[in-house]
Amino acid sequence: MTVTVRFAPSPTGLLHVGNARMVLINWLYAAHNQGKFILRMDDTDLVRSKPEYADAIERDLQWLGLKWDEKVCQSDRLDRYDAAFETLQAQGRMYACYETPEELEFKRKRQLARGRPPVYDRSGLALTDEERQKFEDEGRKPHWRFKLEHEAIEWKDLVRGDVHFQGENLSDPVLRREDGSWLYMLPSVVDDIDLGVTHVIRGEDHVANTAVQIQFFKALGAEPSAFAHLPLLTDISGGGLSKRSGSITLESMREAGIEAIALNNFLGQLGSGETETIHHTLDALAADFDIAQYGRGTPKFDQHQLEALNARVLHDMPYELVRDRLAAMELPHADEAFWFAVRGNLDKLEDVRTWHAVCFETLDTPVDDAAFIESARKLLPDDPWDDTTWKTWTQAVAQETDRKGKNLFLPLRRTLTGHDHGPELKVLLPIIGRPRVLERLQS
Ligand code: GLU
Repeated sequence: MTVTVRFAPSPTGLLHVGNARMVLINWLYAAHNQGKFILRMDDTDLVRSKPEYADAIERDLQWLGLKWDEKVCQSDRLDRYDAAFETLQAQGRMYACYETPEELEFKRKRQLARGRPPVYDRSGLALTDEERQKFEDEGRKPHWRFKLEHEAIEWKDLVRGDVHFQGENLSDPVLRREDGSWLYMLPSVVDDIDLGVTHVIRGEDHVANTAVQIQFFKALGAEPSAFAHLPLLTDISGGGLSKRSGSITLESMREAGIEAIALNNFLGQLGSGETETIHHTLDALAADFDIAQYGRGTPKFDQHQLEALNARVLHDMPYELVRDRLAAMELPHADEAFWFAVRGNLDKLEDVRTWHAVCFETLDTPVDDAAFIESARKLLPDDPWDDTTWKTWTQAVAQETDRKGKNLFLPLRRTLTGHDHGPELKVLLPIIGRPRVLERLQS
């Protein structure tokens, strides 16, 4: 059995970090098990689905590095849903209902007022042929409900453990609208069966759907897949994330200079108890992945934590993983020695430009104490330079000027780099090189 999972976004908006967490966990689950990862566009809602959102979703997944083995669009598979509908109809599981949304809402309120659960009363099922005809004559079109078996529905959830529902506590779900269009419920199961999905990993907002969908699997003659329902990511105050709150979209993360692999580490760790280990590749993340690590507590998205992790990821990022990107940033001197010298001072990769300028460009740096800098200039060692040069030089300057500590080092740092903080000067000095150092000391 090949482990097969899918991520099934509706292309009705941009992906946010909560969606990214779900797709990542699916992808890691497949990768860990040498399985298959399917991207499924749930685009049956023709009004709200937009090709530009589908494109944006693909772009986001590519940015995260999450390649899919297969892509399907529900809009290409409508005949499969029609066929499933006919199968269910032939079994007497589908029934026509004519209530308007207002009538349904009225029933719901009345049930609640009487202290009863708002379960659909199956009046559609009780209609006689004459009653149905009367509705049709009035110009009403039916929507279609699936008749649930009133029995126990149980599964062993990979995250929640044993889950139990009673069919009689659930409303018969509407599968098809008056205009013949599909609600999410049935097409999803038809796809999961046709595509051989073995594990459905999704948010816990789908737990009750799963109870219903298990009955579809059975009615369609298929074994239900395994299920894992993860708690949904919330914002820092515990509120729900929404596609409308722009700052949490993947697009905005990318624009803010968050590394894809940092986000992957962060989202993979959230809710798993793990906070220390950083993996520099998805393969390494996948190797360590275990869905059993995820608990039922609600994970919170904290941008500051993500930014801190982003910096940690950069601080020990191997050169070979960043080389092409440095080249694309048109930083001609950004070689391995330079990268090792400066990576520990980066919060965002963009910051590397600052240090590239410090090391290789003509800079106008401040000279706060001209006399001191002049004495230092006179003692500057001759080439060749290496990582002992800084020590040799500053010891000589200390002796000559009687300065030590901050008084000695800070003015030198400011004149050599233009910054109060930065990479170790012992490493930076040979990279900046004698001619440029001299130029800055003389300015
Ligand atoms: N399109 C559905 C959603 O966005 C998919 C749910 C599922 O994974 O089955 O919630």
